[in-house]
Amino acid sequence: MTNSRAAVMKRATRLENVFFSTTFDPFSFSFCLILGRFEKGRIYTFIGEVVVSMNPYKNLNIYGRDTIEQYKGRELYERPPHLFAIADAAYKAMKRRSKDTCIVISGESGAGKTEASKYIMQYIAAITNPSQRAEVERVKNILLKSNCVLEAFGNAKTNRNDNSSRFGKYMDINFDFKGDPIGGHINNYLLEKVSHEGFSFFGSPFLKILFVQLLQGGSDQMLRSLHLQKDASAYNYIRAGAQLKVRVLSCSNNDGAEFKAVADAMKVIGFKQEEIQTVYKIVAAILHLGNLKFSVDGDTPLIENGKVVSVIADLLSTKSDMVEKALLFRTVATGRDVIDKQHTEQEATYGRDAFAKAIYERLFCWIVTHINDVIEVKNYDNTIHGKNTVIGVLDIYGFEIFDNNSFEQFCINYCNEKLQQLFIQLVLKQEQEEYQREGIPWKHIDYFNNQIIVDLVEQQHKGIIAILDDACMNVGKVTDEMFLEALNNKLGKHAHFSSRKLCATDKILEFDRDFRIKHYAGDVIYSVTGFIDKNKDTLFQDFKRLMYNSSNPVLKMMWPEGKLSITEVTKRPLTAATLFKNSMIALVDNLASKEPYYVRCIKPNDKKSPQLFDEERCRHQVEYLGLLENVRVRRAGFAYRQTYEKFLHRYKMISEFTWPNHDLPSDKEAVKKLIECCGFQHDVAYGKTKIFIRTPRTLFTLEELHAK
Ligand code: ATP
Ligand code: MG
Repeated sequence: MTNSRAAVMKRATRLENVFFSTTFDPFSFSFCLILGRFEKGRIYTFIGEVVVSMNPYKNLNIYGRDTIEQYKGRELYERPPHLFAIADAAYKAMKRRSKDTCIVISGESGAGKTEASKYIMQYIAAITNPSQRAEVERVKNILLKSNCVLEAFGNAKTNRNDNSSRFGKYMDINFDFKGDPIGGHINNYLLEKVSHEGFSFFGSPFLKILFVQLLQGGSDQMLRSLHLQKDASAYNYIRAGAQLKVRVLSCSNNDGAEFKAVADAMKVIGFKQEEIQTVYKIVAAILHLGNLKFSVDGDTPLIENGKVVSVIADLLSTKSDMVEKALLFRTVATGRDVIDKQHTEQEATYGRDAFAKAIYERLFCWIVTHINDVIEVKNYDNTIHGKNTVIGVLDIYGFEIFDNNSFEQFCINYCNEKLQQLFIQLVLKQEQEEYQREGIPWKHIDYFNNQIIVDLVEQQHKGIIAILDDACMNVGKVTDEMFLEALNNKLGKHAHFSSRKLCATDKILEFDRDFRIKHYAGDVIYSVTGFIDKNKDTLFQDFKRLMYNSSNPVLKMMWPEGKLSITEVTKRPLTAATLFKNSMIALVDNLASKEPYYVRCIKPNDKKSPQLFDEERCRHQVEYLGLLENVRVRRAGFAYRQTYEKFLHRYKMISEFTWPNHDLPSDKEAVKKLIECCGFQHDVAYGKTKIFIRTPRTLFTLEELHAK
């Protein structure tokens, strides 16, 4: 045995011993494997067909043209673990077998999901359209540029990540029969409008990315036309507290260049000049709204700085008196009468902030719709061109546990429960189906099925969302505490729910505003404060009408429901949680119809450091990323499977009976002969079309023999 072969065997035995010993601990196994590789500078690891990615926090030279060439068209295990390997596998399955596939990227904030999704898209763009067809190039260009625009509007600098996506994104890329991208579609999920980091109103969600970009990168003339000044601290919504001030100052000096890149990307995507102008006008209007001051004269609230009102009216192409009226009054229908009810100062402030958040959200959704309009496959005739297949890429918020968890974390963690459920089902289901198809006996695997938690949240009438919606439906003033009371009454006995009221001493009763969910990834305590408001997401109809009546056609288009007068608004809009739940159910249905590939991202430390490896933090992530279930399934089954034909193609040189060609009745017989020659017959099973190899050691040895 040569030295290198001895080394391979030793490594394989070590791995196999861990993998299959009776005291096997899948947790330690995955953890040590990932850690071992990361220490050697290898940030990717395969666990089965899942790529685990560890954020290196430094630029690595592993995404260039050379690397792309190494992965193009190769089988998953032929090259070292890499995002490109999984991208290629998804692409090959789509192209060769006309399968719709999807790549699900998960991990916590800052773990590297968005970066991974961009590398995957770059890879797909690089390996397609060899004939340089203009339309395909156009689509590819727009798909790549759309990231830049969505990041500018939807990302924020947070404590955890300088470029944190504050929305979930699922992007479909459509391919024609040649395997070239011909279109796409983006779905966006729950945009965080209010910072969870405790700053007032917008706080960090608006910091840096777009607002500061505009202030620093916009030309003097542009800023003048938007009535803006360069100094970010002049705007309440981005000044929000001393801490933020520091961060504004520490923003990269590059915002000028970034601003230009975003403007250029919008042009490439096909935004018209007046549309781009409207986008900036809306952004400026939001900044000005934050500076509006209310005061009271007796019972009457007033706006102190009327000049700001006229600036906002100008930017939103409406009239000052109409803006003022929408800010200070609410039209209500009492029986047959319609009256203007005056706001209190508190209501006026609430209304102003709700309005600013709503125009920001509308703007973001409108941008997504606009991108979809230009990349959606139109008039595509399946009968002439063959099947139009899809690769979906999901870059969505991972499980979040903060010091203070609110409605947003509740939604995000529910989303992760849904995805974990899908992961369990698909990994187990696929594995099971494959064994059945191939006629190989399957033994049951024990795993934690988190369906119980999914139900706790989403079940009709009984789940937390239903209880929250019920509370929001009540006429009269409903408080967050009343919602908590209802939760306690209805779910107090649930194994995965508790609240301090139920489990703590009398002393704590008074401060009780929390409930706890035992998630599959750990316990999270949610503060009920703000749940009712955020779920109702109320925006007075007056604002919608104001926007609908704008003389700017783009704004008018964004607010179609403003057409209705107050007496015509009969239906309650769906609540934020229900809208989110519906979008999650649709997302999971969509993913379940595709062949999934997984990228699990891990964040090595909280300091954004390329050197540090925080063991405790990583252990927790490995635990909740569902890698355990994954390892268990792989362990109960076979580490590797391949069709007889392909297996022979790769390893036939190992045996004299198969090299250069065999004369046995079938490839299956030839593979059997080859395996027996090597003495591996006890480690394999023969399916109808595939050979299954149980331990990685056998595979390593075969690889070693192949390489000799
Ligand atoms: P969020 O949920 O907050 O959006 P995320 O998981 O999308 O977080 P990214 O924005 O992709 O995280 O990554 C955070 C930062 O980590 C990047 O800005 C980059 O500095 C670094 N990073 C991530 N992946 C890589 C990589 N493969 N190579 C080098 N640096 C990386
Ligand atoms: Mg991201």
